[in-house]
Amino acid sequence: MADFSLQLSEDQLQIQKWVHDFAESVVRPAAHEWDEREEFPWPVVQEAAKIGLYGLDFMMNAMADPTGLTLPVAVEELFWGDGGIGMAIMGTGLSAAAIAGNGTPEQAMEWVPQCYGTADDVKLGAFCVSEPDAGSDVSSLRTRAVYDEAHDEWVLNGTKAWITNGGIADVHVVVAAVEPELKGRGQASFVVPPRTKGLSQGQKYLKHGIRASHTAEVVLDDVRVPGSCLLGGKAKLDAKLARARQIGTTGEKQPAMSTFEATRPTVGAQALGIARAAYEFALDYAKERHAFGRPIIMNQAIAFKLANMITEIDASRLLIWRAAWLAHNGGFRNGEGSMSKYKASEVAVRVTEDAIQILGGYGYTREYPVERWHRDAKIHTIFEGTSEIQQLVIARAISGLRIP
Ligand SMILES: Cc1cc2nc3c(=O)[nH]c(=O)nc-3n(C[C@H](O)[C@H](O)[C@H](O)COP(=O)(O)OP(=O)(O)OC[C@H]3O[C@@H](n4cnc5c(N)ncnc54)[C@H](O)[C@@H]3O)c2cc1C
Repeated sequence: MADFSLQLSEDQLQIQKWVHDFAESVVRPAAHEWDEREEFPWPVVQEAAKIGLYGLDFMMNAMADPTGLTLPVAVEELFWGDGGIGMAIMGTGLSAAAIAGNGTPEQAMEWVPQCYGTADDVKLGAFCVSEPDAGSDVSSLRTRAVYDEAHDEWVLNGTKAWITNGGIADVHVVVAAVEPELKGRGQASFVVPPRTKGLSQGQKYLKHGIRASHTAEVVLDDVRVPGSCLLGGKAKLDAKLARARQIGTTGEKQPAMSTFEATRPTVGAQALGIARAAYEFALDYAKERHAFGRPIIMNQAIAFKLANMITEIDASRLLIWRAAWLAHNGGFRNGEGSMSKYKASEVAVRVTEDAIQILGGYGYTREYPVERWHRDAKIHTIFEGTSEIQQLVIARAISGLRIP
């Protein structure tokens, strides 16, 4: 067990500064352009790969930190730079986490490096769970995986919706139903290797925020993958299905849910970075902008708003750090991962809206970044479990009851 401390180590402070410098000098100056273009910011991601921020080594180092704080600290700084570009850099992390969490050590060694590629040849990963008719309700996925024993291959068919890096990724991790009647317990995760026939990008979504991050449908049309692409292996799946047939679908645990649970403090840190960017900008602005012969911060209505903003931001960070530490030191007990993501996401939406209010007319225009930060913040109450789903997870954890 690592001690929990609010005092970051020398290493963590260095990483924090390193990411902040990159966010300030490379990410922020590029943010407006890529938001307007609504395209994947390849040059920025390549820059991140060159300095080692996008890539396997960075993720391995961050994950190996026994306190768990390195990743949220780094992510907060990156998203302080920009939410859309931040997501373009962090999006691959979900597929890597799914492989590492559900795969055998051999599968992790084979596929996680392929999700990232190298600094000279950047690759992307995508984690494909959601479907047009199944977002929050991940137990009712319609994408089917059928085993072709003669060829030792799995055949995947279905459509995935709103997938980050969908279709432009090199490695897609797909969650599919093997035995749909067993709901979540009848599902499994599969790696779809680069250039596999039958996988294609459907529509690319035009979005409200994080517009530099690519989000698209992924269509699976008789996609055949070798038996070795079933994460965890066939023997483990067979045992799981046999158990599920005996005990039924109650209390089901679903492979995608474990991935999301583990990554929630990081998603909270994304929202936190955006909230802090907006707060800092609004604070500076409120000291400089004059109305009625005095800086607007000299009005309690503005000063107290800023006081509330920083109080909520700091409260979010404390929840995120606690959850990140627990994830590495004993696990969650009362839905602490969900608490951190829920709180930080809601705070980010409110704080960025308050920042627009403080900037008045300027805040509403695209000349200033706060309206973008507000748009970018909103996704955090929706993806990787909506705020309502986070409340459900917490309610179930504290009550021990299967609240529907
Ligand atoms: C930009 C973006 C990127 C994304 N990236 C990915 C990705 O990489 N991979 C992936 O698999 N998915 C991804 N998603 C999908 C995302 O995870 C889902 O949109 C999300 O889980 C919500 O699902 P839904 O949209 O179907 O909403 P629904 O599940 O239809 O929910 C609609 C509303 O009903 C509420 N609701 C639903 N059930 C309950 C309940 N039991 N109690 C109370 N309220 C409830 C929800 O909270 C929500 O407010 C992404 C989405 C977006 C927009």
